[in-house]
Amino acid sequence: MMQPILYTGAMDAETLYLMNELTQAERVTLGCWKCMHGFLDGIPVVIVRTNQGMANAAASTALAIERFQPCAVLNQGTSGGHAPDLHRGDIVIGARVIHMTAVRTPDRERGAGIDVESAQPLGLEIANTESGDGRKMTEFFADPALLRAAEQTPWAEGRVIKGTIGSGDIWNNELDRIYWLHTNWGTMTEEMETAASAQICTAYNIPFLGVRILSNTAVHGESFDESTGVKCQKFARAVVAQYCNTN
Ligand code: SAH
Repeated sequence: MMQPILYTGAMDAETLYLMNELTQAERVTLGCWKCMHGFLDGIPVVIVRTNQGMANAAASTALAIERFQPCAVLNQGTSGGHAPDLHRGDIVIGARVIHMTAVRTPDRERGAGIDVESAQPLGLEIANTESGDGRKMTEFFADPALLRAAEQTPWAEGRVIKGTIGSGDIWNNELDRIYWLHTNWGTMTEEMETAASAQICTAYNIPFLGVRILSNTAVHGESFDESTGVKCQKFARAVVAQYCNTN
């Protein structure tokens, strides 16, 4: 059988639409995570609800890769906007993904205070079975073929842009911090799973793409709307159809 595509999303709001659209749907036991296997538009797929946050995303993605040997991984879902020209409902294709909370601070004496802006990106170790330290990475780039498919996916329901997704176990509401992340690290939107999935896919050498819709943006005072999660799943489905048609 053709290797499946693995879709990941943290919440029901980000996975239930896809799960309900499956044909030959089968519930699979995958540790603590909800997982379904089946076909979407004739393509074999696995859908994992990772639950929220970096550790959940990493662990469930690794388990799903071991179990299903997917040919590609698509992490998708909701996010909070950083870019001033983006609004709720807009979609960011993650050409680049960074880990916003993996940082090294400079040496500072006791009493010298705290300065968030002086933090430098901390390399994330890519797991391997060799002796010694592994390769360290501070940014992850989307698989070129998946990225091309996403760029070529027709979408009439809103804006789609290509850019950087910032991940971390953090929900930022300080507008100065959001502005700093956007202008210094290039983040268009933030969420809590994509960089962890990208790190694990890099270790396994599996093509990866993250796609995130803005469900909220503090920049414009637009609060969380979970119905955007369905829209993102529809876009992700169209991306996979486009990918499988051209690859
Ligand atoms: N009502 C839900 C909302 C969760 S939002 C609850 O309180 O449990 C957190 C999830 O949505 C994470 O999985 C994250 O990936 C995503 N997310 C959406 N907007 C976000 C934001 N502004 N910052 C961080 N994560 C965000």
